[in-house]
Amino acid sequence: VEFYLERIAEHEHLNAFVEVFAHDARSRATVIDQKIQRGNAGKLAGMVIGIKDNLCFKGHKVTAASKILDGFESLFDATAIERLLEEDAIIIGRLNCDEFAMGSANEFSHYGPVKNPHDITKVPGGSSGGSAAAVAANLCHAALGSDTGGSIRQPASFCGVVGFKPSYGRISRHGLIAYASSFDQIGPFTKSVEDAALLYEVMAGKDNFDSTLSRKEVEPIELNASGDKKLKIGYIKECIMNDSLDGEIRDGMMDLIEKLKAEGHTVEPVNSPHLDYMVPVYYVLTTAEASSNLARYDGIHFGYRSENATDLESTYKLSRTEGFGTEVKRRILLGTFVLSSGYYEAYYGQAQKARMLIKQQTEKVFEDYDLMLSPTAPHTAFEIGKKQTDPTVMYLEDIFTVQANICGIPAVSLPMGNHSNGLPYGIQLMAPAFSEKELLQFSHQLM
Ligand code: GLN
Repeated sequence: VEFYLERIAEHEHLNAFVEVFAHDARSRATVIDQKIQRGNAGKLAGMVIGIKDNLCFKGHKVTAASKILDGFESLFDATAIERLLEEDAIIIGRLNCDEFAMGSANEFSHYGPVKNPHDITKVPGGSSGGSAAAVAANLCHAALGSDTGGSIRQPASFCGVVGFKPSYGRISRHGLIAYASSFDQIGPFTKSVEDAALLYEVMAGKDNFDSTLSRKEVEPIELNASGDKKLKIGYIKECIMNDSLDGEIRDGMMDLIEKLKAEGHTVEPVNSPHLDYMVPVYYVLTTAEASSNLARYDGIHFGYRSENATDLESTYKLSRTEGFGTEVKRRILLGTFVLSSGYYEAYYGQAQKARMLIKQQTEKVFEDYDLMLSPTAPHTAFEIGKKQTDPTVMYLEDIFTVQANICGIPAVSLPMGNHSNGLPYGIQLMAPAFSEKELLQFSHQLM
């Protein structure tokens, strides 16, 4: 704990942590130390973990990096947090992110942008940018993030760490501040696949507080148990041919494919005919869900209340106007529009149908392949401020990651090494729903 507290203080310029729970972490460390000596400590004893600022940790502030939750304190632990604590993890602080997890660069935060530890003029990716930066800069052993459309995998790729999004319905969303409830999933950022598997195992599994959880048993993940099983892997042709893809990342992918073939795996191109529809489907549906989820921030129930309000209506209006940032407002407006009478069928209804098609097409690919491979993001980390002005440019950042959330399947970003510009980049593996074991076993072999 002392080691990490020191490192956090030395790396304040990264703006990764919005609050450090120094006192808490120190006293917990003492208790856990005693447990270790008595021989009854949990699986995560001594593991120092940072949490994204959209996860509830009882008695601690949580704001989703928004002014509207200014001063709000969690009344309970998120199930994922509770399970980490039961296994004696130490939570060291809360990590910066995009406001309500909406963004791809961690620039839309009430606390200001996070900086990429590999180059502080670059973004760390988003929305869980603080989590990725903290693990990459070794400010904690591991961190939690949430992934609605790539918010774990894309920052993991930009910062050179492992980012894992489990299947929808595997880790309870109870205590995760909702963005788009049919897409959101909690997951770990780690330096190794072993740590990702360990944290996943601790957090996954049924919970009476989240009715969308699967009742399927969580399989224990023995990473070395797969032997040298040869897999059938499909790589997405449309991703490789995509204009936005950086040439060097494409070459890196092709080299990896050759290497896998040489090792005896079957690696073949597969079609993803709906690639161009994925980002639009994602943004229509997630903004719709967000407009509903964020209706609860009315200036009365939680956090910030405008001082300029004179009656009930102006309390609602002014608190929301002053409390939400531009990107969040944009999405609430967009989501309200696509759900409004007269437009509902044309936008929300169509997007739901397209979601179903994408899901069916993806399941069909998995009839023939064990895994799907793609780049995680089209390029390496970009300059802070560069894409902030045009939302559609920013939305296209998510082109390779949203499929996993649209379909509810597990996906991981693994660090592939460095680009000639000195920045890290990752590759993404996706697996059929609830195939976390196979996905992580193969990831372990790759790293
Ligand atoms: N970048 C995507 C968005 O802005 C993904 C965010 C996320 O996964 N939370 O919505």
